[in-house]
Amino acid sequence: MHVTAVGTSGGLPTSRYGTSCIHLQLFGDEILFDCGEGSRQRLMRYDASPNVDAVFVSHFYADHTLGIPGLVQALEMNGRDKPLDIYVPEQRTRRAHEMIEGAYRWPSYTVTVHGYSENEPVRQTDDYTVRAFGTPYTDHSHGFVLQETDRREFIAEKARALGLDPGPKYGMLQNGQPVETDDGTTVEPGDVLSEPRSGRKVVYTGDTRPTAGVVDAASDASLLIYSAMFTEEHAHRARSTGHSTAAEAARVAAESGSERLWLTHISPRHEGDEQTLETQATAVFENDVTAVRDGATTQLTRE
Ligand SMILES: [Zn+2]
Repeated sequence: MHVTAVGTSGGLPTSRYGTSCIHLQLFGDEILFDCGEGSRQRLMRYDASPNVDAVFVSHFYADHTLGIPGLVQALEMNGRDKPLDIYVPEQRTRRAHEMIEGAYRWPSYTVTVHGYSENEPVRQTDDYTVRAFGTPYTDHSHGFVLQETDRREFIAEKARALGLDPGPKYGMLQNGQPVETDDGTTVEPGDVLSEPRSGRKVVYTGDTRPTAGVVDAASDASLLIYSAMFTEEHAHRARSTGHSTAAEAARVAAESGSERLWLTHISPRHEGDEQTLETQATAVFENDVTAVRDGATTQLTRE
């Protein structure tokens, strides 16, 4: 899974950095967590595909949504032939329609606005599931948990040792069906598959205060992408505006057992002083911490 920080500025774009957008490429899907103003241009700048399959919107503020109409229009002008899924809080579907149609028109390719709730998977494929959790920021604001499906690998040596040559029976075993060898012995899938290997988990908080709910959602995350707007000197401001400090983000990372922490949604006032955010977070969370700026990437590999 490849992850790119496309927009990392909190609230407002600056001359260098765009507003919220995280791009993930996994299993042939290109997905975005939020799509702030100008996201499409930055996707191209940072070699992340703008040919997006799905956009997940954490809440309906401009610094998380304004890039959507431009993305929708550009896809049509580039001859889009596959559908685009846009996931918004269920109370915001009408607003999403109005935003797209008001800024352009409803496109000729298939764009589906899905209203999501916290009670059911937002998107589910064979390879991964995305679900939402509530955050105490504004009305109908959320974060997202992306969990890869656990996998069992097929071990060909074991199959051969049991008397099976490569062929259609390998595929049947991989699909969970028992098969018979030439001498009539039954081979069960469990005889030739590895122990389940845990899928990777990426958690994107959206804008939030550090709460027990966020800690719970982030449990054992491979990568926690946290909206950490302020340094400790502005802790009162973080509290009064519903945001978090870098140290608060780090506390969530530590309490949730996350492996890595990306600090994003950084206040324009801290531009050029990202080191302070990292230092304050590192004092609380001993694992890998990065205050990411636009264009930062990482590859997450399965253990
Ligand atoms: Zn925001």
